Amino acid sequence: MTEAVHCHYHQSNAAIWHCEPCQKHYGDCCVPNVPEGYDEPACTLCHEQLTYLGAAHTAEPFWQIINKFFTYPVQLSSLSFLFVSVVIGLLAPYTGPAEPILSLIMMAVLIKYSLQIIEAVSFGSWEPPSLEDAFSADALSLFFKQMAIFFVGGVALYFIGSLGWIAFFAALFFMLLGVPASTMILAREQSLFSAINPIKIAFVMAAIGWPYLLLYFFLIVLSGGPAYFIGFQLEPSPATVAASSFLGGYFSFVMYAMMGYCLYQYQATLGYTAEMEEFGEVSEEDYRKSKAMADSLILMREGREEEALKAVKAALTNAATDLQLNKRFFQLLMLTASDEILQKFVGKYTQRLLIVRKDHEAADIYLEVRKRLKAYMPATASDRFKLAKALSETGKARESLRLLFNMHKTFPDFAGIPEAYLLVAKMLSENMNNDEQARVYLDYVIKKYPDSRKAEEAKVFRHVIDKLATQTA
Ligand SMILES: [Zn+2]
Ligand SMILES: [Zn+2]
Repeated sequence: MTEAVHCHYHQSNAAIWHCEPCQKHYGDCCVPNVPEGYDEPACTLCHEQLTYLGAAHTAEPFWQIINKFFTYPVQLSSLSFLFVSVVIGLLAPYTGPAEPILSLIMMAVLIKYSLQIIEAVSFGSWEPPSLEDAFSADALSLFFKQMAIFFVGGVALYFIGSLGWIAFFAALFFMLLGVPASTMILAREQSLFSAINPIKIAFVMAAIGWPYLLLYFFLIVLSGGPAYFIGFQLEPSPATVAASSFLGGYFSFVMYAMMGYCLYQYQATLGYTAEMEEFGEVSEEDYRKSKAMADSLILMREGREEEALKAVKAALTNAATDLQLNKRFFQLLMLTASDEILQKFVGKYTQRLLIVRKDHEAADIYLEVRKRLKAYMPATASDRFKLAKALSETGKARESLRLLFNMHKTFPDFAGIPEAYLLVAKMLSENMNNDEQARVYLDYVIKKYPDSRKAEEAKVFRHVIDKLATQTA
């Protein structure tokens, strides 16, 4: 069984890449899919090409997903194929002299289709070949190759038999045991010579190891499936014929899917990983972004912050407004940049967040920055006010009040002062238990902005404060 290997930086993710010089494994978390036309991914740390491990570490063992094989044929394309086969099988006896030809064609198509199932599943696709694929002349040579394999096997057995009984039974045993391996090789490599090569067959069986015997056992059980349901009948009715050819097809698709999956699961050991799995289309823009995110994380973890910063900065030149990249850039600046650079960036970053109404995220960033820059203040009145509102909503009254302190002196023309000071008064009264100061702010609003709607609110609030004060007194 393949040992589970995880991404060096993400213990919960399976590894699909390996860097030989760094001796590190990476998951798809750290190595984003490349768009078409790009080079194969390289290691972030040493820039050497990575080795693809395929699904070796992500694929569940076939014996753990048995259910999936039983449902595999229950899909539109395979069911329509089975339906067509059953109908042809029922009509064949009435076609007179054409019957043997028709039966031969159906057998050829069935074998070809089954081998195509192995091939598809071995590439990680769970969609059976379409009806069109099944009846196209394409890959029909697989049928003749399969026949040739049986013929070569028979001839070989005949000659080996002349060496004596022991040799005969040893060869027979190996051949019977090797049937699934040979079939899998044929489906995957489509080469007659590989599929009859005893060394190749032995290699595949050895590479899979003991689970090959398990696979063999499953295949034997499954091949008895149709007989189990139908039993043997001397004079079968058309319904029985239909049912048995349907079940025969169904069980053989289950078996072939299982063999295909076995190739998929053991692709690394079998040396079939040269072919990359089909990934969805990736746009260059998405790629640049996820690459910068992944690289910067790896470099940060390795203590190479300067390089991480460079990677994110490069990505930001093409996607200045991307919030994830901005956040990562901020985290890196917090670690490495001078106060001036950090302050300049945070101003822009905060505005960007406020524009897209992420006031609470902006407030978190503000608190974060204050840990390093004790005297930090956002440059504009409206930024300060928005941050203060967000902070007061999460109960951080002290930080919020700091932002609004002396606003009427710093920004005398700011139109939001009445609203800001009303907020100050509320926090003073409710969070700081300071009604006296609260009254000062309310009075300021009432006196300074008598025509504003906030003045009315300020009066009401002042009234409430006074009333509560007399009650407690
Ligand atoms: Zn990772
Ligand atoms: Zn490396």
